[in-house]
Amino acid sequence: MPTRPGNSALECEICNHKATTRAHLREHLKTHSEEKTHVCHVCNAAYKHISSLYRHYGQKHKLRVYSGFTCL
Ligand SMILES: [Zn+2]
Ligand SMILES: [Zn+2]
Repeated sequence: MPTRPGNSALECEICNHKATTRAHLREHLKTHSEEKTHVCHVCNAAYKHISSLYRHYGQKHKLRVYSGFTCL
């Protein structure tokens, strides 16, 4: 979980789409993972390859990322 305050937990950090439930947001985020550009939801850094983004999460944010962003 990002240590960001506020009630933005159900809002997509990439396109600001507002989800009604966590499950909905999770499904929504899958649409982004299918795009060519993978964007860090913490600092908006973009990578062509999802593996590069996963490494970025680990190195920059000390986050472990599993498929579909389900464990963030
Ligand atoms: Zn989105
Ligand atoms: Zn980042």
